[in-house]
Amino acid sequence: MHLIVAEKNISAHRIAQILAGGQKVAEKKDVGVSTYSFGDTTTVGLRGHVVEVDFEPGYENWRSETYTPRSLIDAKTIKVPTEKRIVALLQKLARHADRVTIATDFDTEGELIGKEAYELVRAVNRNVKVDRARFSAITPQEIKTAFANTTDLDFALASAGEARQSIDLMWGASLTRFISLAARRGGNNILSVGRVQSPTLSMIVDREKEIEKFVPEKYWQLGLLTEKASEQIEARHTNGRFKDQKIAELARDRTKEPLVVTEIKEGTKQDRSPSPFDTTTYIVAAARLGFSAANAMRIAEELYMNGYISYPRTDNTVYPASLDLNGVLVTLRNSPFKKDVEWTIAHRRPEPTRGKKSSTDHPPIHPTGVATKEGIGDDAFRIYELVLLRFLATLAPDALWQTLKINFDAGGEPYTTTGGRLIEPGWHVVYPFSEAKETILPTFITGEKLPIRKVSLDEKETMPPARYTQSKLIQRMEELGLGTKSTRHEVIAKLVSRKYVEGNPLRPTLVGRVVTEALEHNADAITKPDMTQTIESHMQQIKESKRTRDDVIKESRSMLHAAFDQLEANERVIGDDIRDRTAEELNLGHCPVCGGTLAIKHLRGSTQFIGCSRYPECTFNIGLPVTQWGWAVRTDDICEKHHLHFVRLVRKGARPWDIGCPLCHHITSNAESLTEIPSMNEALLEKARSKHIYTVAEIAHSEPERLEKALLLAPDAAQKLKTEAEGVLEKLRRRSECRKFMRNHLIPRKGRSYSKIIAALKESGVSDLSDLAKANPVTLEKAGIGETEARDLLFEARVTYNGQVLKEIGIPAVSLKKYIAAGINDPAEFVTTTPENLSKKTGMSIGTVNRHVALVCEYLHRPAPVKIPRARIEKGRKELLSVKGLTESVAEKFANAGVISGDELLAADSKQLSAASGIDAEKIRNYQTLLKKKRETAVIQI
Ligand SMILES: [Zn+2]
Ligand SMILES: [Zn+2]
Repeated sequence: MHLIVAEKNISAHRIAQILAGGQKVAEKKDVGVSTYSFGDTTTVGLRGHVVEVDFEPGYENWRSETYTPRSLIDAKTIKVPTEKRIVALLQKLARHADRVTIATDFDTEGELIGKEAYELVRAVNRNVKVDRARFSAITPQEIKTAFANTTDLDFALASAGEARQSIDLMWGASLTRFISLAARRGGNNILSVGRVQSPTLSMIVDREKEIEKFVPEKYWQLGLLTEKASEQIEARHTNGRFKDQKIAELARDRTKEPLVVTEIKEGTKQDRSPSPFDTTTYIVAAARLGFSAANAMRIAEELYMNGYISYPRTDNTVYPASLDLNGVLVTLRNSPFKKDVEWTIAHRRPEPTRGKKSSTDHPPIHPTGVATKEGIGDDAFRIYELVLLRFLATLAPDALWQTLKINFDAGGEPYTTTGGRLIEPGWHVVYPFSEAKETILPTFITGEKLPIRKVSLDEKETMPPARYTQSKLIQRMEELGLGTKSTRHEVIAKLVSRKYVEGNPLRPTLVGRVVTEALEHNADAITKPDMTQTIESHMQQIKESKRTRDDVIKESRSMLHAAFDQLEANERVIGDDIRDRTAEELNLGHCPVCGGTLAIKHLRGSTQFIGCSRYPECTFNIGLPVTQWGWAVRTDDICEKHHLHFVRLVRKGARPWDIGCPLCHHITSNAESLTEIPSMNEALLEKARSKHIYTVAEIAHSEPERLEKALLLAPDAAQKLKTEAEGVLEKLRRRSECRKFMRNHLIPRKGRSYSKIIAALKESGVSDLSDLAKANPVTLEKAGIGETEARDLLFEARVTYNGQVLKEIGIPAVSLKKYIAAGINDPAEFVTTTPENLSKKTGMSIGTVNRHVALVCEYLHRPAPVKIPRARIEKGRKELLSVKGLTESVAEKFANAGVISGDELLAADSKQLSAASGIDAEKIRNYQTLLKKKRETAVIQI
């Protein structure tokens, strides 16, 4: 069998389809992993890396005395499978293969993934022939050529990848542990440090400092408005920026009519067609369409794997001679951009444009297949369109502008204006993503005199440098040799997810800044790009077989040891510095009650809230949702009214939840419940807030004297307010309990909103568990709950609610469990079932049961049943069971209806007993007759 190993499942599928030609491809699933077979060939897809590098066992404990952070530098590493099922399947297939072709992506990472697969194959099949297919697009032509010309794996290239992996692991792990331990942080809160990540973060921090240091300078700009052929034209003073206000004003005052045309300069300007896309220029162009770097790469990879565009990780901006440009154009004729393709073919430039970087691995990013909006979705299609039209633009002719510059004189002051007209639109015809703005001027003649409609002197300020956008940062990283085309966008995404940077353009958070500065002051090699550049050049040397992997790793180890020499000497200072400064990021402002500091507090588990620094003297606090809803952080916005920082809940993979000013939020979210207190009115509410009383709970828990004083109430009114608040508080508690119950028992479903259901139920008068337990299934169905679900929910509600009532009555939890297990959960049942039956069903002693029954009867205001001696019960039961056809279950039902002996049965009214026991009246009369006869016979026998 010929086994082909692709990088992903989807590429395995496409490769099989292409190589099968007309043959049918059979898809088979083994341990959840798909394989695709035709003839004697099977393809299987990996999931990128299926093994990962980790330290050998022993290094798991961060606080170990023996295995210190520094010891990680020299720790031995091992490869551990991360995708066990894929690894198992790959090896199972490899055992039976007589040829294995590695068809992973064609770059360092892909070569390394290929080598990992190679090692897994070799471990189970020592002699199988293994070759390598390399391609830049998953199109029939590329794939067929690649498989007809397979070569060997490039072990030098894979080694470079391995070296990078090991070095990144050793840098990241040792430094992250060191800094986190020094700052006493653990769990979710660790401070990560990385080889590429830290210098990148440092660039963002430096830019922020430049912005903060920046002192704006004032300058003045002088301009005028003239008119020609009823068209208004702006001209500006040729001085540009006046630094001196007086000189600017002088020039303004000298500007007098007429405005004389002194010179007309005409010219043309060539506007070169853009060069082909490499990864960086592609990311920049996609950013203009609103795609983040990570998103742009994810979509491009999907398009690549589906054969629509070529491999998107490339540094090349020159089309190789081997690329069949005509072939691509012919293919694209069938795309939705047929008209643009036809135009390009008709106007094609002799040679395509070329950029500055040429490499041999991949061609620049270009379209390879035909996609439609319906087929791939809106976002993917916008990216496809961008890549396709960019390709056309690189084949389209240059554009030509006619330029015009007019110089004027007004009272000796020189002015100028410029115009531009696109005379040959060239590539702009097919590429709308780069704006071509024309300024068309009327015709002027030298010496012509014009009026001046307005002279304006504007005061302006110089601007600080701009923050980095994601795409600008990627460009800068490339210039500095930080990271690779495959990793740059991932590094930025990591900085965001680790809360080191935020926003777009990017700015550092306080933690990001503090960690960077701590490293800069103590081991600046870690935050400078130099060391990372050195390592990148070492990678290149490994690829070219000029150095070995082990040699490079060894050198990297000594660099890191040098950094640790500095770090360890300053451990205390670094730790204290980070801790003191990061505490600040949780402070929100002054406590409204006492003037202390309000700060976000995270407790163990998932609790978080806002509390006062003067606790316990000041108990003011604001509750926050549990961390499952998001980790609370402060933002830079500040409430104008309360002067507190805004709070935001951030959660991985979810949109952040902006709470805004915590105090404003606190006030609005408690407004409704406060108005439920009957004697609360607008004026009283206002007074309460001015005294920092914001919640029902605060009123309910206050001493009446405090309310008297704070709200200027008479003693009885204060007491009344407190009692009412206690009632509302209890109501709120029950309501929230009911909401929680619904959330726990209704399965979440798409399009279903709990708050909608809860609102609908409230409308029908169901707002707590006791209402729900008594509710009608129809009410629930009206609120949007399905029939079966409503029935189950009602059942659960009754069990839960009655359980609570029984607990309140005083039934111990252990006994309650036994009752519920026996199906007894309604207090009423304690009266309708005899203690004997309760005892029998639950296995509890009759004495215990009697005690419980007495408690329930007291609660229900019913007389407790008279205790009947056991002997009498047994005797009565025996007699009843002796009646022909009177079974145990019938006897039990009679007992529950109060009939426990023959005498009672004979004395009972058959209709009444039937209603109470559920046994047919006719049958009861029959039992009575039989019993009578039996007794008579017994008498005769005596
Ligand atoms: Zn306080
Ligand atoms: Zn506020």
